[in-house]
Amino acid sequence: MASWADDTDPATPLDLTAELARDLIRFDTTNYGEGRSNGETDAAEYVAEHLRGLGLAPELFDSEPGRTSVVVRVPGRNRDAGALVVHGHLDVVPADPETWSVDPFAGVIKDGLLWGRGAVDMKNMDAMILAALGDILGAGEAPARDLIVAFFADEEAGGVLGSHYLVDTRPELFAGATEAISEVGGYSITLGGQRAYLLQTGEKALIWIKLVARGDAAHGSRLIRNNAVTKLATAVAAIGRREWPIRLTDTTTQLLAEIARILDVDPQRVGPDELALATGTASGFIQASLRTTTNPTLLKAGYKHNVIPDLAEALIDIRTLPGEEDAVLAEVASLVGPDIEIVVMHRDIGLETDFGGPLVDAVVGSLHRHDPGAPVLPYLLSAGTDNKALSKLGIRGYGFAPLRLPAELDFPGMFHGVDERVPLDALVFGRRVLTDLLSTY
Ligand SMILES: [Zn+2]
Repeated sequence: MASWADDTDPATPLDLTAELARDLIRFDTTNYGEGRSNGETDAAEYVAEHLRGLGLAPELFDSEPGRTSVVVRVPGRNRDAGALVVHGHLDVVPADPETWSVDPFAGVIKDGLLWGRGAVDMKNMDAMILAALGDILGAGEAPARDLIVAFFADEEAGGVLGSHYLVDTRPELFAGATEAISEVGGYSITLGGQRAYLLQTGEKALIWIKLVARGDAAHGSRLIRNNAVTKLATAVAAIGRREWPIRLTDTTTQLLAEIARILDVDPQRVGPDELALATGTASGFIQASLRTTTNPTLLKAGYKHNVIPDLAEALIDIRTLPGEEDAVLAEVASLVGPDIEIVVMHRDIGLETDFGGPLVDAVVGSLHRHDPGAPVLPYLLSAGTDNKALSKLGIRGYGFAPLRLPAELDFPGMFHGVDERVPLDALVFGRRVLTDLLSTY
């Protein structure tokens, strides 16, 4: 922890939330996928140590060596109310330092922001959870209801070695839990010049497939019609070019109606994509929540310029609307044709829950006590979170990591992006709102 770029006034101490998030960023918990990972153990031990300092007794669970999750139950004032799972993940996606303007794992503080891989996804929220717990317990108080606080491994590879592992092998850890809050929601956007907050009330389903094309291996100079690379390229292009139709779910119908109301436009006359575009930086997320997406993400074939390989493979990241998984898979199969083998590498369900009820009311109440009058809108996440695993236990998950952000910051664009960064004052805001919510709900 010796040296790092820090141009903030050293006389101004960092808020604890920023300190915790910075320390967590410095643990390089890169998850490369397909079982390759730096592991989460060091970060998990850091988190556990902090929890012990609050008088709690966290448990650490290794699904495999180095793949550590942390869980602790915090007794609430009302032990009869359903427990709330408050969770984050400790792993991050890879970061290529060549493309970043700072070292992605140094925890740089610059221009009033904390920079680094995980500043957005989601060591920011991990830190906010720890700081909020400290605020409540440190004041000699208790949360309103039992909390099950979890920091999972492996979220960035579908949670197989983290949330799914714990839900499948240790379901008793989540006994009595009815609802959960976590990432990719709760942040502010600017809509028609006004600040509004997105509460994530659903997630698309995901299907990660591999396309396999086989052909004749041969000298690169031969006349070969059965070329695996050509066949794969045709299939990949067909999937990548497919424009999936818009289909609105309950969540997106409600969201678009709210956007139209705030902008004072007629939703019958302004199309869904156009309404989504009005959300500015969030429109990339929201447009993708209106339809299925099928993005080619990785190609693998060949080993020498003058050798035709007999095998070519591509990975496709499919995100369907909840419930449409099988129909989309069937259509993908017909798009690529019978000559291409489709291997499903990983799939997980979509979720959609009501934008209403006591938790949603409490979230809106907490936000309004700290940012009066700002509209709170439901949205369907185009990606997925550990809430999918918790849903197997009947736990309704929401995305709520509250952050009040400046209008010009493209926060949604920084998920898995370059130069991830979060304003220090947004972390302070998040700590306060989360403390409020956990104290009152
Ligand atoms: Zn995440």
